[in-house]
Amino acid sequence: MINDKDIEYMRQAIALMREAGVVKKTGGAFGTVVVKDGEVIGASGNSVLRDNDPTAHAEVNAIRQACKKLGTVDLSGAVLYSSCECCPMCYATAYWARISKIYYAAGWSDFADLFDDANIQEDLVKEYKNRLLAPEQILQEEAQAVWQEFRELPDGARY
Ligand SMILES: [Zn+2]
Repeated sequence: MINDKDIEYMRQAIALMREAGVVKKTGGAFGTVVVKDGEVIGASGNSVLRDNDPTAHAEVNAIRQACKKLGTVDLSGAVLYSSCECCPMCYATAYWARISKIYYAAGWSDFADLFDDANIQEDLVKEYKNRLLAPEQILQEEAQAVWQEFRELPDGARY
């Protein structure tokens, strides 16, 4: 059930979208707000061009801010409001951050003439050999050995 607060947060995301893409031109027209327990803990536009960082999507920027602010990698219970449907990277970033819910305004089809979100999504369901970057496996055993070491650490870097 979408309430007045959801609308307010989405309007903030859309304001950041306009600021990023149209006013300051830091990157594409994308904006995101992350909210937890009624508090905005992350808010950003896309800054791919300003930062020369292809991963500086609004969602990633806002999630990074939120994690820094709370001093955690676990944003369970947080809600992400994005001006646009998340690309696969941002969806995965929200997943890794344990965001509990995503709302979006514009859909991929609204900006498919400008950005590759739908193309990436289509690529992801193909077999590796048919994907654009054609991932190929080499030295699996050597990497498996490191996983075994990691698995056996009593004080490993688990999260
Ligand atoms: Zn993205």
